[in-house]
Amino acid sequence: MTAESMDKLVALCKRRGFIFQSNEIYGGLQGLYDYGPLGVELKNNLKRSWWNSMVYERDDIEGIDSSILTNPLVLKHSGHEETFSDPLVDCKSCKSRIRADHIKENKCPECGSEDLTDPRPFNLMFKTNVGPVEDGSSFAYLRPETAQQIFTNFKNVLDSTPHHLPFGIAQTGKAFRNEITPRNFIFRVREFEQMELEFFVKPGEDEKWHKVWTDLRMDWWEKQGIDKKNLELLEVPKDELAHYSKATVDIMYKYPHGLEELEGIANRTDFDLGSHSRGQSDLGLTAKVDKNTDSNAKLAVQDPDTKDWIVPYVIEPSAGVERGFLAILNEAFKVEELEGGKERTVLSLKPHLSPIKAAVIPLKRNNEDLVQKAKELKNTLQSKGLGRVLLENSGNIGKSYRRHDEIGTPMCITIDFESLEDGTATIRDRDTMEQKRLDISSISEYFKEIIDN
Ligand code: ATP
Repeated sequence: MTAESMDKLVALCKRRGFIFQSNEIYGGLQGLYDYGPLGVELKNNLKRSWWNSMVYERDDIEGIDSSILTNPLVLKHSGHEETFSDPLVDCKSCKSRIRADHIKENKCPECGSEDLTDPRPFNLMFKTNVGPVEDGSSFAYLRPETAQQIFTNFKNVLDSTPHHLPFGIAQTGKAFRNEITPRNFIFRVREFEQMELEFFVKPGEDEKWHKVWTDLRMDWWEKQGIDKKNLELLEVPKDELAHYSKATVDIMYKYPHGLEELEGIANRTDFDLGSHSRGQSDLGLTAKVDKNTDSNAKLAVQDPDTKDWIVPYVIEPSAGVERGFLAILNEAFKVEELEGGKERTVLSLKPHLSPIKAAVIPLKRNNEDLVQKAKELKNTLQSKGLGRVLLENSGNIGKSYRRHDEIGTPMCITIDFESLEDGTATIRDRDTMEQKRLDISSISEYFKEIIDN
């Protein structure tokens, strides 16, 4: 079961401190959101899980963290200055601005008027100024994707690590797009985070690797708790491909507002490395570039056997953190009927994603012995390095259970008077609500098992 309604997710996020409207006290700023105490944990856990699977669990991928401010030349040569735009239409009646491909039946979605302008391209990149002088020569872009700085660092990484093809460079971080119509909560925003891998392969092996990465990414989303029946692969039609792509497969998820892109896996060919090599050549930064054979092509690798210079092809799985967050939240959200006509809301998050890994609850908030024992256990579990453990000293066990069900805490541990006598505590499972007593000395091991799985 999923939330099936965006309103329920938005309300939960605000009530429990996952997501807030950005700049809210001054009326907000459209298309921006802030992540609260629980949101930041879930977001970090999601990025960590991605990083683990990309960088730590493989030996052929390195990570980087590059700057957000980008030299305009990078985005000139990548083709973004010319082509990174959406078709913009103005409604002459209500003055709203709409993305042409979001218009149905030639009617303004705001007022229904058919008095619309012809579409014109609107570049989505944000500009800013670097340094104290604000003139045309000092501007820089906020990066619209994390990928470009992976390409510009290609040689740096290659020269400082022992890799040959195929190998990859991974990065997570902010990207900025001046979306014409941000909407659907955190689905389409103007400032977001991407988790991008650029996987460099020999030309000719690109189609095989495209398939490999599509399968790997579907499996990964399933491990984050997304039922495969809510995921679909969409082969992007040739006339809708981005300027750099030979083929793109989108992983689509059934969001509460409809089936939409969660991640795109593009075959970017040698477009970017080739363009940046040529870019440097045009600027006189390299002597001469013949991208298939010339060692002056800065962004190329030498085949260790044939000694030929190759500009690699690139397969790019590119996922949005916010879109992943929303899909995971939707998937985990359940309302269950309890005996006596009551209901409980549960977030059945995979434990590695849960913002709080365990809550330790003393039965009575004013009893020093109980609180002390609970604190000790909290500290022991916290020291395992598996994520945040909370001392929940509300004095109301029922309320604490409800709160932790709703925020997805996999287990609650209650310290009661028996705990002081025999050294045991009650563990309650979020999903089954089953309770059992365990020796406090064995809880660390049990905790590790639950969170690691
Ligand atoms: P869309 O067609 O929905 O605008 P896109 O095809 O332009 O998306 P890509 O350029 O492929 O998106 O970006 C890779 C990923 O970055 C997307 O799959 C998505 O998860 C995320 N992403 C892109 N734009 C946004 C946005 N405005 N808000 C949140 N996430 C985004």
